[in-house]
Amino acid sequence: MVGKFVYSFSEKNIDGDASMRDLLGGKGANLAEMCHLGLPVPPGFTISTEICRYYYANNKNLPNNFHSEVKSALHKVEKIIGKKFGDHNNPLLVSVRSGARSSMPGMMDTVLNLGLNDDTVIGLAKYANNERFAYDTYRRFIQMYSDVVLGIEHYHFEECISDIKQENDIELDTELTVYHLKDLVGRFKEIVRSKHGKAFPQDSEEQLWGAIFAVFESWMSHRAIVYRKMNSIPENWGTAVNIQSMVFGNSGDASATGVLFTRNPSTGENKIYGEYLINAQGEDVVAGIRTPQVITTSHKKELELTTPSMEESMPHLSKELFAVATKLEKHYKDMQDIEFTIENSKLWMLQTRSGKRTTQAALRIAVEMVEEKMITKEEALLRIEPESLNQLLHPYLDKNFKKQVITKGLPASPGAASGIVVFSAAEAERLSGLGEKVLLVRVETSPEDIHGMYASEGILTSKGGMTSHAAVVARGMGKPCVVGAGSIKIDYDIQLMRVGDVEIKGGTHITIDGESGEVILGYVPTKSPEFSTYFIRVMEWADQIKSLTIRTNAETKHDIEAALGFNAEGIGLCRTEHMFFEPDRIVHVRNMIIAQTLQEREKALAKILPTQRSDFQMIFELMKDRPVNIRLLDMPLHEFLPYKDEEMQILSKASGIDLNTIKHRCKQLHEVNPMLGHRGARIAITYPEIYEMQSKAIFEAMISTLKKLNFMPNVEIMVPLIATENEMKILRTLVERVAQAVMSESGVVLNFKIGTMIELPRAALLSHKIAENAEYFSYGTNDLSQTTFGLSRDDSSAFIPEYIEKGIFAKDPFVELDVEGVGELIKISAERARKVKPTIKLGICGEHGGHPASVRFFNSLGFDYVSCSPYRIPIARLAAAQGSVMSKMKEQV
Ligand code: ADP
Ligand code: MG
Ligand code: MG
Repeated sequence: MVGKFVYSFSEKNIDGDASMRDLLGGKGANLAEMCHLGLPVPPGFTISTEICRYYYANNKNLPNNFHSEVKSALHKVEKIIGKKFGDHNNPLLVSVRSGARSSMPGMMDTVLNLGLNDDTVIGLAKYANNERFAYDTYRRFIQMYSDVVLGIEHYHFEECISDIKQENDIELDTELTVYHLKDLVGRFKEIVRSKHGKAFPQDSEEQLWGAIFAVFESWMSHRAIVYRKMNSIPENWGTAVNIQSMVFGNSGDASATGVLFTRNPSTGENKIYGEYLINAQGEDVVAGIRTPQVITTSHKKELELTTPSMEESMPHLSKELFAVATKLEKHYKDMQDIEFTIENSKLWMLQTRSGKRTTQAALRIAVEMVEEKMITKEEALLRIEPESLNQLLHPYLDKNFKKQVITKGLPASPGAASGIVVFSAAEAERLSGLGEKVLLVRVETSPEDIHGMYASEGILTSKGGMTSHAAVVARGMGKPCVVGAGSIKIDYDIQLMRVGDVEIKGGTHITIDGESGEVILGYVPTKSPEFSTYFIRVMEWADQIKSLTIRTNAETKHDIEAALGFNAEGIGLCRTEHMFFEPDRIVHVRNMIIAQTLQEREKALAKILPTQRSDFQMIFELMKDRPVNIRLLDMPLHEFLPYKDEEMQILSKASGIDLNTIKHRCKQLHEVNPMLGHRGARIAITYPEIYEMQSKAIFEAMISTLKKLNFMPNVEIMVPLIATENEMKILRTLVERVAQAVMSESGVVLNFKIGTMIELPRAALLSHKIAENAEYFSYGTNDLSQTTFGLSRDDSSAFIPEYIEKGIFAKDPFVELDVEGVGELIKISAERARKVKPTIKLGICGEHGGHPASVRFFNSLGFDYVSCSPYRIPIARLAAAQGSVMSKMKEQV
């Protein structure tokens, strides 16, 4: 493999477009772009993601010419800076930073201060005229390099620092003198010798290559793999490696390091938001070791802090920083998350990326950026991940409940959560696996805790700020989170947390409020949220732009009302069998099933008819003129059968049929494979009187509604599980015959449509024939996926996770439509049906009707509607709008 693998930040021909991002990773591409914008970026270069892919494809070897490319790029940096890598008098130090195409915060490794050894540290001390700084940097380097490259865990070094502090009666790291730091460096090197079996590498070149390999290795670390899986990031992207000259935020009181968001990542408010630490380096802010100070004075006042804001302590530099922040936001047209360092009163930019944000913030930022004319409505709609709207359904605390607040921390991620206290990620995972609701309580969290955070209702930490690991990750997950609750003292050994004299053991119930930062003893009831004006605006825009109609799958009053609250435009699936399970009805239903003669069955059906009729009337009255698609009975009959003795006795009494006959009938009706058995249309072929009763109930309900409220309901009647055109023809005739009878009896003309569900591959392939007797098709994608894959939905959970792990399935096909296979079948079906009936209405009523990517796919096929469960309607509305925007964009290209 020959080619170019190394790109200097300042190279002219690179920009931040998508292909560059693929090649240089997000961090590398943005460093280059900031460089081109004329911002102060420490010089450096990026090793492209191709090398990482090459590394894994070629048994961890690298291309031949690659070595020399890195060398010459490093020479260029040396020239710009006027320092030399490995030089004893004036050494160039670098950071070696990972960076994939999309940011994976904290997932992969970075080494700072690389190039230091026993000689260069002396050169650094002389050059900076600050011996303490040089040795402080050296000990940081040994610790970080040992952790990342040599695999020696942090705590060995942390313990050593504690020892020295204790021996010398020191409290803060900043109080360590040169003498202590030299001592520390010696002890650190001893740790390396004993754990690693070799001395700490003194050769700068060796250090550099060690770190480069470590970054490649970190791409396949357990935590990176887990993160990729949870965020659907493909493994073959690989990571880039950025090598950049160091700037030192730890070189005295005119130096600092910090993180800044151009808008509030929690609320979206258009105000700079961030944290900094004086005389500190890199991860110090995020690691939660020292509690950082805030950047703006208004933020300081909000939190009632006493430590000075950056605006107060470094007024000129803050101005410069804010100007850069504004420039970056305008340039990228999005809220930015920025890393900066100040070295001896000079500002340096180290990173910028689109900031992670809560859904509330995403909505507000999108709406306000449209108002500021920074982006268009279409762009705004594409900015919001439909699935994230789920977060808005977060409950909040009932204000009227008397709660016992024990302390307050920083409100890091909104929503309220109650659960029992657990002190480790492993325990969180274990107990939640047993069905417990748990709250993870930690001093601080690290990437190793991700699993446990996922398993928890919420996260509480005693240290760290709004940009700490816990805060950032919780916001991403949409989990309530309170951080930096400093009055909490946690003792992991005895599984106890103390707040003043309140002692809380693991397993105790507590509640956190991510909106106020309150930590509350015991359980507090929660309430459902109301929607912000930003949410409403975005939904209005979505409705203006989308062409798909969004219906809902619902049949109960409760669900229909919820769906209408979310602007459901119709019912796409009303499952009549759900109405059969009510306790006062099931007896008659059972009676109908075990009936052995037509007369017996008709008698039972006559008892069910009035209840069905009043159900339909309730639905029509709620839905007004919106379409209501009613599916006739679709369920294996035996699912209704009694299986307990006492249920059989009740049935025997009600029906007059003796117990033994009932038992015998139940046995007879048992099916080996009910999913492929006597269900759907097949029931009506053998027992037409069931569909006759249901049709009659529908038509009579239409007439009662017309008489009562003076409108004709918009009814669609759907026959499930059709495989052949003959089934369709027979059942259509049946429904029409009933309609005729009702019409002549009542003298009212009924308008309605008859359609079918397409859920069998045969039906999909023969759609042109089936369409002759159907005004519409609704694709039942649950069953269609099941029958296309030959995969039972009820049994597949045993092995689908392994299929996903092994890369056989990209996604669970019951969650996200398999566009390649099932999607193709739907496409073929739609084409064939439209050929014979161009006006045929097409819709979706499987789970996939609420899955964003699937909704966008159905939009691309020009479908009329999708139908989903009530709470997924906002998600489907937004996804449908995104689908429209995307196809418009395609047309323009
Ligand atoms: P991550 O992707 O985990 O944020 P980074 O590569 O951004 O990792 O680096 C970790 C920390 O080190 C960040 O705070 C960053 O600002 C700091 N850092 C990275 N490179 C340098 C450098 N050349 N000089 C000073 N600080 C740096
Ligand atoms: Mg980091
Ligand atoms: Mg970073």
